[in-house]
Amino acid sequence: MKYYIVFDLEWNQSAVGKEASLESLPFEIFEIGAVKLNGNREKVSEFHEIIRPCVYCQMHFAISEVTHASMEELQRYGRPFPDVMKDFLEWCGKDYIFCTWGSMDLTELQRNMAYHGMKIPFQRPLLFYDVQKLFSLLYSDGKVRASLDDAVCFFDIIVQAPFHRAMEDAEYTARVLAEMEFEQIRQYFSVDYYRLPSTQEEEFTLEFPDYSKYVSRTFATKEEAMADKQVTDMICYKCHRMLRKKIRWFSYSQKFYLCLAICPEHGYVKGKIRMKRSEDGSIFAIKTQKFVYGEDVDLVAKKKEETKIRRLERNRIRKSQKRRS
Ligand SMILES: [Zn+2]
Repeated sequence: MKYYIVFDLEWNQSAVGKEASLESLPFEIFEIGAVKLNGNREKVSEFHEIIRPCVYCQMHFAISEVTHASMEELQRYGRPFPDVMKDFLEWCGKDYIFCTWGSMDLTELQRNMAYHGMKIPFQRPLLFYDVQKLFSLLYSDGKVRASLDDAVCFFDIIVQAPFHRAMEDAEYTARVLAEMEFEQIRQYFSVDYYRLPSTQEEEFTLEFPDYSKYVSRTFATKEEAMADKQVTDMICYKCHRMLRKKIRWFSYSQKFYLCLAICPEHGYVKGKIRMKRSEDGSIFAIKTQKFVYGEDVDLVAKKKEETKIRRLERNRIRKSQKRRS
């Protein structure tokens, strides 16, 4: 039976600004709280540890304000990160999936592990449930992100402990997860982007009921990524046919590309590529493909037209500036 490991982290950062911040460890974890739920989403166990800081030994004022944690507390009760992490992984067991409120915790957890020279044992791609996103998919438009406090209120969960410490937030997130109509959204995994495919073989595509998501390996530049066939191919995820593009890829903004393809059997498919920066500064592409109907089909053409007008306008301004100078 698969367990759900619902966890939350608290972290500190440089208290004296960016200059004193370590690039490889901008956030140092000082607390980990976790709840283990069984397959019926019932609590079976919990894990709580304080970690003794070794990089940022002064509390950032905003963080002490939110968490009410003090450096004295962490120094007195904390244990070294690698020891706590080892215990945590053991407590997690073998058959589990991580669940977090938001999408940041798993990345920060792995960054801290890498900083301490620990081997990262998680599968690749690392799938998890972003409970905040699931909550939005079920009770909102799938895009807005509610606060944990709001979700707790939504389900009338009785609040006994203050928010914003790892154990309480993990407990609340677990309670929210237990209350949701989970069966409706159990296919909506999130994927963590900390460790990316390094070869073409490691690239992967996730298929959801209404869209698919492909994650590329890393490239030096976005132009190089856009020159790669795997990145730009459109394949119907219902019949796995290679699709003809009705509107070829065009850049919609600095980070996005759009296209429109057509499957003779299943209709129009909108493609969207988002370029993202990886840990080492290289570029990777996330391509989503989604069936579109009616107005949404025309919308792609409209966006292309908009882009063209914007570009002409920019060129016109540039030329007139040149004339003036
Ligand atoms: Zn098809």
